[in-house]
Amino acid sequence: MRHIAIVGSGPAGYYTAEAAAKKWGEDCRIDIFDRLPVPFGLIRTGVAPDHQSIKGVARRYEKVAKGDTVRFAGNVSVGGDISVTELQAFYDAVIFATGAPHDRRLSVEGVELGNVFGSAEFVGWYNGHPEFATLDPDLSGRHAVIIGMGNVALDVTRILAKTPEEFEGSDIVAHALDRLARSHLETITILGRRGPHQIMMTPKELGELRDLERGGPKVDPGDLPPADEDADLEPGVRKSVNLLREFAANDEAYRGKPIAIEFDFFASPNALRGHDGKVLAIEVEETHLEDGRPVATGATYEIPADIVISCIGYRSSAIEGVPFDERAGRFANEDGRILPGLYCVGWAKRGPSGTIGTNRPDGYAVIDIVDEDIGTGSHKRGREGFDELAAERGLDIVTFRDWQKIEEAEIAAAREGAPREKFIDIESMIAARG
Ligand SMILES: Cc1cc2nc3c(=O)[nH]c(=O)nc-3n(C[C@H](O)[C@H](O)[C@H](O)COP(=O)(O)OP(=O)(O)OC[C@H]3O[C@@H](n4cnc5c(N)ncnc54)[C@H](O)[C@@H]3O)c2cc1C
Repeated sequence: MRHIAIVGSGPAGYYTAEAAAKKWGEDCRIDIFDRLPVPFGLIRTGVAPDHQSIKGVARRYEKVAKGDTVRFAGNVSVGGDISVTELQAFYDAVIFATGAPHDRRLSVEGVELGNVFGSAEFVGWYNGHPEFATLDPDLSGRHAVIIGMGNVALDVTRILAKTPEEFEGSDIVAHALDRLARSHLETITILGRRGPHQIMMTPKELGELRDLERGGPKVDPGDLPPADEDADLEPGVRKSVNLLREFAANDEAYRGKPIAIEFDFFASPNALRGHDGKVLAIEVEETHLEDGRPVATGATYEIPADIVISCIGYRSSAIEGVPFDERAGRFANEDGRILPGLYCVGWAKRGPSGTIGTNRPDGYAVIDIVDEDIGTGSHKRGREGFDELAAERGLDIVTFRDWQKIEEAEIAAAREGAPREKFIDIESMIAARG
C-alpha cells in the first residue's frame, strides 16, 4: 500500500490525486489536506466571481474526491495543526500543493499607506476568502490605480468597473457587491512598466473590457509601436495588441462611459503619496525598454490614486522543515522533488504562472516521480495513524461530505440569480455542516 498526503486542495492537489488514483488504483490511499474547511483553492477564492464557467472545473475535482481511495481532510493546517515530520511518519510521500497565497510586495515608498492592497488581499475580499473578508477597501474616491498588466490586473479592473446588474449570475460575496454598488470611481489607471508588445493580458479577458456597461478602455495611440512590428509577435499577444489598437482608435468607447479605464504603458511606480495615513497619489517614473527590460528615464509624473491595488505576482508560504527558495518565493525543488519523501506541485513548485490546466501535467509528472521513489510503498500507517493523532489533538476535520453540506447551505442562501452566497468565516463554514 502507498500512503500519500497531498497538502492543498486546489487544482494542483486534485490533479495530483487524480494521477495517483489512476496510476495505483486500489493500491494507494490518498489524503488531501487543506487549511480551509472548503476545497478547491483559487477556483473558489481566486478565479473571478463573474467567470462561473471557469469555476466549473471543480466538478472534475469532485469526481476525484468521491473516488474510493481519495479523502478530503479540511480545516487542517500543515505546519500548524500538524508538523511535516509528523505527516512523514504516516505517509510515504508528502506532496505540497499549497499554492502561492501571499502577494509579492510592492517595494516603493508609501506602500504602508491606507487603501493600498495587494491582489491576493483584494481578490480574496471580493471572493470571500476568510483571511481577507474583513479588508474594508474604501471605494468612495474617484481614482483607482492598478499596478501590473496581467490577467489578475484585468480581473480587478473589471470587478471595479462593473455595475451591480453585471454581477448577475456571479458568486461575488454580498459585502463586496454592496461596496462596489456604492463606488464613486471615475478612472481606473492600469500601470505597466513595459509596453503593449510585452502585455501579459490574454485576448479573451482583455476583450471583455469592450463590453462593460459603465467602463471604457482608453489607450494612447502614441504608446503603440508601428503596426508592422506586430508581425513577429506570438499569436495570442498579437491578438491582445490588436485589441489595444482597437481601443486606441475608438476613443468614443470610453468617452461615453462614466469610468475611463486608462492603460499607462512604460510607467513604473516610484512612490505613493498620502495624507493622514491614506493614499492620495502615485508618483510614476517613465521607462523605456533596453533589451526588453524596462529602464527608468528619470522623468516623473503624478497620478491621483484614492485606492491602489498591486497585481504583481505571488509567493508561496514557507513551512517549517521544508527547504524554501526565498528569492523565487517557492519551495526549493528539482522537478518537484524537495527532499526524500517530500515533493511539491503546482504554484508551490513553479511559482504563480500558467492556467488551471497547467497544473494537470504537473500533477501527473510528480506522481511519476513519487512512483520511481517509493516503489510499492511501505508499512507506514497512513490515514489510520493520522486519524489517531488528530483525535488526540482534538482536530475538527471537515470531510468531503461535510463540504457538500456547506455547499448546500451556500446554495440555499444564494440571492436571486446567483449560484451561491459563500460563507466568509471559518466558524460559519463549520457550523453549516450541521
Ligand atoms: C486572481 C486569480 C485569478 C485566476 N483566474 C484564473 C482563470 O480565470 N483561469 C485560469 O486558468 N487560471 C486562473 N488563475 C490561476 C489558477 O488559479 C492557478 O493556476 C491555480 O489555482 C494554482 O493551483 P494550486 O493548486 O497550485 O494553488 P491554489 O489554487 O492556491 O491551492 C492551494 C491550496 O493549498 C491550501 N493550503 C495552503 N497552505 C496550506 C497549509 N499549510 N496546509 C494545508 N493547506 C494549505 C490553500 O488553502 C489552497 O486551498 C487565477 C489565479 C489568480 C490568483
